[in-house]
Amino acid sequence: MTIAPHRTATPAAESLELLHTMLEEQFALHTNRLTELIVYGRLPGRGGYSPHSLDVLAAAARQSIADTAAALRRMTEGTYGICNNCRRPIPLGRLRVLPHTRYCTQCDAGGPE
Ligand SMILES: [Zn+2]
Repeated sequence: MTIAPHRTATPAAESLELLHTMLEEQFALHTNRLTELIVYGRLPGRGGYSPHSLDVLAAAARQSIADTAAALRRMTEGTYGICNNCRRPIPLGRLRVLPHTRYCTQCDAGGPE
């Protein structure tokens, strides 16, 4: 959590483009991961996973897919990069690390969600 307190405006078009690419890559990655886990679940040895781990991992992958899809949707809607709680712009440094985040550092640390 060391985000330099420089500019906190909504991400510039250039940065948004980059973040959009990152989100699309993550979306593809998690989708592939989920597919892989589903395939493992059908194998006799489940790829070495226990049914419980497969469930946990698949749930995590589904959550990531949902988070990433929601972030891409917010980009389309023009609400991307705004904290869902305090409505302030989320610092670009944070978006680069967590492109799918809906909260600024402060709200994420203290908020119930
Ligand atoms: Zn906030």
